[in-house]
Amino acid sequence: MAGLSGRWAERLGAMQPFLVMEVLERAQALQRAGRSVIHLEVGEPDFPTPTMAAEAGSAAIAAGDTHYTHSLGLLELREAISHRYESHYGVAVDPDRILVTCGSSLALLYLFGALLNPGDEVLAATPHYPCYPNFIRFFGGTFVPVPTDPMDGYRLDPAEVRRRVTPRTRALLLNSPSNPTGAVLTRDRMAALADIGVPILSDEIYHDLVYGEPAASALEFSPDAWVLDGFSKRFAMTGWRLGYLVAPAGCMRPLQILQQNFLISAAPFAQRAGVAALALGDSAVAPLREAYDARRRLTVKLLHELGFGVPAMPEGAFYVFADASRYTGDSLAFAFELLEATGVAIAPGIDFGDAGRCAIRVSYAASEENLREAASRIGEYLRNRG
Ligand code: PMP
Repeated sequence: MAGLSGRWAERLGAMQPFLVMEVLERAQALQRAGRSVIHLEVGEPDFPTPTMAAEAGSAAIAAGDTHYTHSLGLLELREAISHRYESHYGVAVDPDRILVTCGSSLALLYLFGALLNPGDEVLAATPHYPCYPNFIRFFGGTFVPVPTDPMDGYRLDPAEVRRRVTPRTRALLLNSPSNPTGAVLTRDRMAALADIGVPILSDEIYHDLVYGEPAASALEFSPDAWVLDGFSKRFAMTGWRLGYLVAPAGCMRPLQILQQNFLISAAPFAQRAGVAALALGDSAVAPLREAYDARRRLTVKLLHELGFGVPAMPEGAFYVFADASRYTGDSLAFAFELLEATGVAIAPGIDFGDAGRCAIRVSYAASEENLREAASRIGEYLRNRG
């Protein structure tokens, strides 16, 4: 962070802006000025929260359920989450191993805060979620990117992980399905990664948004894994700020202490909405998954037609990570150029690590009509760009 004076904590120097949010905020400014903007940058479902979940949240507010809850979260919600682990993955997770937070973002903060000492290393596939290195560096840790191969669908390769394990390695951070690549780890890969023996942190926020075989949970292979998940993506509940983490048996206390101090509890009405969402289960997710699947195919086709490279079909989440080297060597400048020129907001690949210097990430959590309109605007612009 340039220009930091002695007033600021040194740890801030490690923090980078979340570029997707910078593009979003510029796009919103253009909208306020009257421009027509199509949002393909932000990782946010364009669907409403399931009606019954929203109604449960409103009913809780109307009934005066507006106070702190137990710091771990409502028992009813933790039991429902526990039930999901049993029914989805066949793993037993005691509700006392579940901590309900304000989005999985806060769960990431607690986890790295509780696990990392300065100099500890965390391995993760790259391209990666932009906030991971920032969380890790905030606590003095080192983010160790493990390159992935586009021709292998950007799946994390256990051999590449092993090569980077050192005495300072504290954890292996998994994200399957991946933001930004949509890569889904096969069960074999997951088992091989668990075999390495490094503690696993698994960000499973895009589970259920998978277009082939369902994604496996790290808990199926590593009972001592730390798992992060939440309601934002699968139930289109980003603004409710509701997520959770699962800790290994006997390991919750330090995290609970962090929550008691930093948050006290997640909002009770959001937790009530979460209980209702889990009761709906896949009946709420299946129609969204079907719509995303159709949009996924359309987006890949449109990107190919525009001259972007998509070497492998993304298998989960709602993103396409596309090679834009035909048009740019600077994805950040390109994202802002496209936004100003066409009103289409996309995410610059560089936000997801150096491998994305010449790439863009397109979110297809947008209507087919908007996806087509965006492609038509970009196509016209690029044809005349010279
Ligand atoms: N992990 C990944 C991989 C994400 O893409 C996101 C949101 N973009 C999060 C965690 C955080 O989501 P939330 O805080 O809404 O649960």
